[in-house]
Amino acid sequence: MRYTLKTKLTLSYIMVAFISIFLVSLSANLLLEKHFREYVSANQEKNNSDLTSTLAQQYRQLGEWNLFAIEPLGINALENGTIIKVIDNNGTTIWDAQTHNNGMCQSIIIEMNKNMSNRYPFMKGEYSKVPYPILVDMKQVGTVEIGVYGPYYLNNNDLAFITSLNQFLIIIAFLSLLFSIILGSIMAKKISLPISNVILSAEAISKGLFNEKLKQKSNTIEISQLTNTFNDLADSLHKQDKLRKRLTSDVSHELRTPLATLKSHIEAMIDGIWEPSLEKLTSIQEEITRMHHLVGDLEALAKYESENIYLNKSEFDLEALIVNTVDNFKVELEAKKISLSMKLKYQIINADIDKLKQVLINLISNALKFTPKGGQINILAYREGDITKIHIIDNGIGIAKTEHTLVFERFYRIDQSRTRHTGGSGIGLAIVKSIIEAHKGTIELVSDLNMGSEFIISIPNY
Ligand code: ADP
Repeated sequence: MRYTLKTKLTLSYIMVAFISIFLVSLSANLLLEKHFREYVSANQEKNNSDLTSTLAQQYRQLGEWNLFAIEPLGINALENGTIIKVIDNNGTTIWDAQTHNNGMCQSIIIEMNKNMSNRYPFMKGEYSKVPYPILVDMKQVGTVEIGVYGPYYLNNNDLAFITSLNQFLIIIAFLSLLFSIILGSIMAKKISLPISNVILSAEAISKGLFNEKLKQKSNTIEISQLTNTFNDLADSLHKQDKLRKRLTSDVSHELRTPLATLKSHIEAMIDGIWEPSLEKLTSIQEEITRMHHLVGDLEALAKYESENIYLNKSEFDLEALIVNTVDNFKVELEAKKISLSMKLKYQIINADIDKLKQVLINLISNALKFTPKGGQINILAYREGDITKIHIIDNGIGIAKTEHTLVFERFYRIDQSRTRHTGGSGIGLAIVKSIIEAHKGTIELVSDLNMGSEFIISIPNY
């Protein structure tokens, strides 16, 4: 069986209410009845001894037993439900309630039996006469037999008290039940509403509606954590989704034209329109190589853009990283006869070493690509307060001021002729920018056409 959170919460409230009412009623009945019985028995005992001492007082005043003095006392006791019989020391009956009004005595006895057997059907009680000696100056002058119901007796008033106590408990039980249902459903609503909202938003997000975020605030810590985590999850899914869509459109956009060209060239060769000459095949091969690079670059970009959120930071020596990276370009530098000088200040920086190396590789390889033979590349690294600065300067062809922001866009190449010559796909600087931004840093470009280029990286060191 599956229940809603609301039903479960309300049911548990009702259950708690029931259990507490049951326990309270049980203990109230047990304790109260016990004490009440003791109280009732003590009261009866006191009444009996009061009656005995009243009779003794009468005897002391009159010096003998007098029927007319005893009778009103006996009738009064009888009217209060107590059957008495007064006997003198010789065993002669002076006044007997049963002789006076046997019918009334019988009905008192019947009512006593009825009261007690109705209320306590398993109790073995019976009516009996208990003799109390009447003492005057420590001398017995007679006996009064008082009819009692043992082991204890509850009269109508006493029973009415117990009944009204139980009725009161039943009313409380109903009220608690009502409150627990109301309170349970209010609490359940409060708790289940945000969860239902999460479900609705999750459904919307699963359909691609990433802006369906949770707005409701809650003062329940867990619920506000759930809302925040859910919104973060929605943001991250949105980002991933945008990335995926962009990547797919970029891939199709960038690959469609070269693939169409390749297709038409190969079809022309198959149809015999073109001779499959070495020159044509080499051009086809070059195009395939370019696409191959493009796919590799796209993969790298996708990786960096999605991974940027998770920087694997550590403290390392920046100088060593730059020297080591430059070492990898030794062959190209020599081939183009480009001299590279470095002015580095030793410093420990806290960053993602692999990603920073990728930044250096992209910038140095660009400087190499866009600097003619015999050119010059300079690398500077130093610290300014909390910021680490790296400059990569070349005296190459430079970038026109109008292109400064565009070069950091994905797939932006300044002009096709340059690109064809250098084989780039316009992704390198986009990667650089996203890595630097993930480090909460900035990248600046100082350049103009034919004036060389200077890329300045600033990374905060915390
Ligand atoms: P690519 O992979 O084509 O090099 P980038 O994103 O690295 O792509 O660079 C984008 C464009 O910016 C390049 O096509 C190039 O025209 C220009 N560029 C980048 N670096 C330099 C530089 N050091 N000197 C001159 N132009 C540059």
